[in-house]
Amino acid sequence: MNNRLAQLQERLDAIEDPLTGKGLFTSGRILGLDWRDDGKVSFTIEAPAGEAARYAKLRDRAEADARAMKGVTSVVAVLTAHEGPPRQTGGIAKVKHIIAIASAKGGVGKSTLAVNLACAFAALGFKTGLLDLDVYGPSAPTLLGVREKPAPGPDKTILPMEVYGLKTMSIGYLVDAASAMIWRGAMATSAVRQMIDEVVWGELDMLLIDMPPGTGDVQLTLVQRVGLAGAIIISTPQEMALADVRRGIAMFDKTRTPVLGVVENMAYLETPDGGRQHLFGEGGARRTAAEAGVPFLGEMPIDIQLRIASDMGHPLVASAPNSATAQRFREIAEAARGNIARLAKPAPRISVV
Ligand code: ADP
Repeated sequence: MNNRLAQLQERLDAIEDPLTGKGLFTSGRILGLDWRDDGKVSFTIEAPAGEAARYAKLRDRAEADARAMKGVTSVVAVLTAHEGPPRQTGGIAKVKHIIAIASAKGGVGKSTLAVNLACAFAALGFKTGLLDLDVYGPSAPTLLGVREKPAPGPDKTILPMEVYGLKTMSIGYLVDAASAMIWRGAMATSAVRQMIDEVVWGELDMLLIDMPPGTGDVQLTLVQRVGLAGAIIISTPQEMALADVRRGIAMFDKTRTPVLGVVENMAYLETPDGGRQHLFGEGGARRTAAEAGVPFLGEMPIDIQLRIASDMGHPLVASAPNSATAQRFREIAEAARGNIARLAKPAPRISVV
């Protein structure tokens, strides 16, 4: 344990837990304490069942106390309370499983995999939706070739578009991508809220959410507002990308979201003689998953057909369902599906204060 974390623990322990009479830390209320080199501190306070209101005050104090420490630039303290399984409300009330597709960095193929995995779930017979929440760089309009605007529903709701057997919504269907990209924190967060609260999905088995890369405000807003069945993390094999994957896994862990698995994209290039060229190293994501104790869902090779189909707005899984790559997507979808029930945790309802 490094010195500053120990000091932070001590500081939080100076706050008395009303139920045990001991410090918050000693009472086991503080989880996932993290102090990054850039001065960002984050942790979760876990309130006992029915005590969320009382602990909200303690959360504020813990946040202020942490912020007052030398070297701290910002603090994110999330309050969670065990109040039974999360209840979905609004337009996602009838969605059975919501899965976040996440990556630590941009450009690793997250959106490409999200769209094709959604098509794979649909091909396996699940009623499936795809919500593109990558507000800073929405790619669903390109990947699915959607050019029309979604229709408004009753009472200020929005109806998803229907393409390739999927229901889909993206901020990119509503505004052009260039204006979405200049949004700052609060605006992006409120766009995300709107996407979650106002889109009426109807009955779905699976809703895949294409998240923005990284572990920022949008991601936290999402995990706080939606009861996720789990997250799938996309990575490339490079060692540098893997450090961020560990951070991503830690974020989901902190908010008690099961990681359904890691997918290694651009794992290798198949040579004409049937060999495999590991351009970015071999097996890194698999090892990282094993070290973190989360499942590995599979490798996706570099496939020029996948890139071309994506650019044309025809997801490969729908346009070339008999290809080896489409088959892989269906296998990864099946593996992820199997992990939903296996990894289901008694999820807390997370109160945002
Ligand atoms: P991200 O969502 O992580 O920013 P994208 O899904 O937009 O990444 O993918 C970035 C680029 O890489 C796109 O041009 C996409 O077509 C291409 N790409 C992604 N995965 C593969 C793959 N397995 N084989 C070939 N090209 C890929």
